[in-house]
Amino acid sequence: MRIPCPHCGARDVQEFTYLGDAGLQRPDGLAATEAAMFDYVYLRDNLRGLHEELWYHGAGCHAWLAVRRHTLTHAIESAVPAKSRWTGAAA
Ligand SMILES: [Zn+2]
Repeated sequence: MRIPCPHCGARDVQEFTYLGDAGLQRPDGLAATEAAMFDYVYLRDNLRGLHEELWYHGAGCHAWLAVRRHTLTHAIESAVPAKSRWTGAAA
Protein backbone atom coordinates (compact mmCIF):
# COMPACT_ATOMS: atom_id res chain seq x y z
CA MET A 1 0.00 0.00 0.00
CA ARG A 2 1.21 3.51 -0.80
CA ILE A 3 0.03 6.57 1.08
CA PRO A 4 -0.05 9.89 -0.79
CA CYS A 5 1.61 12.19 1.75
CA PRO A 6 0.64 15.79 0.92
CA HIS A 7 4.23 16.88 1.68
CA CYS A 8 6.34 14.02 0.26
CA GLY A 9 4.20 12.40 -2.43
CA ALA A 10 3.20 8.73 -2.62
CA ARG A 11 5.28 6.67 -0.17
CA ASP A 12 5.33 3.06 0.96
CA VAL A 13 3.22 2.27 4.02
CA GLN A 14 6.36 1.05 5.84
CA GLU A 15 7.38 4.70 6.23
CA PHE A 16 4.26 5.36 8.32
CA THR A 17 2.92 4.40 11.74
CA TYR A 18 -0.78 3.76 12.19
CA LEU A 19 -2.42 5.40 15.20
CA GLY A 20 -6.07 4.54 14.69
CA ASP A 21 -9.49 6.00 14.15
CA ALA A 22 -9.37 9.74 13.42
CA GLY A 23 -12.99 10.18 14.38
CA LEU A 24 -12.82 9.25 18.06
CA GLN A 25 -14.12 11.86 20.46
CA ARG A 26 -12.64 11.73 23.96
CA PRO A 27 -15.35 11.90 26.62
CA ASP A 28 -15.16 14.69 29.18
CA GLY A 29 -12.86 13.16 31.78
CA LEU A 30 -14.65 14.72 34.74
CA ALA A 31 -18.20 14.06 33.62
CA ALA A 32 -17.75 10.79 31.69
CA THR A 33 -18.93 7.51 33.09
CA GLU A 34 -16.51 4.65 33.61
CA ALA A 35 -18.26 2.75 30.80
CA ALA A 36 -17.83 5.69 28.39
CA MET A 37 -14.10 5.90 29.17
CA PHE A 38 -13.73 2.13 28.78
CA ASP A 39 -15.40 2.33 25.36
CA TYR A 40 -13.15 5.21 24.32
CA VAL A 41 -9.93 3.52 25.40
CA TYR A 42 -10.56 -0.13 24.48
CA LEU A 43 -13.46 -0.66 22.09
CA ARG A 44 -13.29 -0.11 18.34
CA ASP A 45 -15.68 -0.88 15.52
CA ASN A 46 -14.38 -3.19 12.81
CA LEU A 47 -15.65 -1.18 9.89
CA ARG A 48 -15.97 -2.33 6.31
CA GLY A 49 -15.74 0.61 3.96
CA LEU A 50 -14.30 4.10 4.04
CA HIS A 51 -12.60 4.91 7.31
CA GLU A 52 -10.69 7.99 8.42
CA GLU A 53 -7.45 7.11 10.19
CA LEU A 54 -4.45 8.86 11.68
CA TRP A 55 -1.03 7.97 10.26
CA TYR A 56 2.38 9.37 11.24
CA HIS A 57 5.01 9.80 8.51
CA GLY A 58 7.99 8.96 10.71
CA ALA A 59 10.40 8.10 7.87
CA GLY A 60 9.48 11.21 5.94
CA CYS A 61 8.21 14.63 6.91
CA HIS A 62 7.18 13.67 10.49
CA ALA A 63 3.66 14.93 9.87
CA TRP A 64 0.44 13.44 11.19
CA LEU A 65 -2.00 12.71 8.39
CA ALA A 66 -5.73 12.07 8.30
CA VAL A 67 -6.14 9.35 5.67
CA ARG A 68 -9.49 8.21 4.26
CA ARG A 69 -8.96 4.54 3.36
CA HIS A 70 -11.32 1.79 2.27
CA THR A 71 -10.74 -1.01 4.77
CA LEU A 72 -11.60 -3.75 2.30
CA THR A 73 -9.66 -2.62 -0.79
CA HIS A 74 -7.08 -0.35 0.94
CA ALA A 75 -7.84 2.28 -1.73
CA ILE A 76 -7.00 5.70 -0.33
CA GLU A 77 -9.49 8.45 -1.12
CA SER A 78 -7.57 11.30 0.50
CA ALA A 79 -4.67 12.14 2.79
CA VAL A 80 -4.43 15.56 4.41
CA PRO A 81 -2.42 17.03 7.27
CA ALA A 82 -4.23 15.98 10.44
CA LYS A 83 -4.44 19.46 11.87
CA SER A 84 -6.39 20.64 8.82
CA ARG A 85 -9.04 18.04 9.62
CA TRP A 86 -9.92 19.86 12.84
CA THR A 87 -9.00 23.44 12.03
CA GLY A 88 -9.73 23.55 8.30
CA ALA A 89 -6.34 25.24 7.86
CA ALA A 90 -3.87 24.09 5.24
CA ALA A 91 -0.56 22.96 6.71
ZN1 LIG B 1 5.45 13.03 4.41
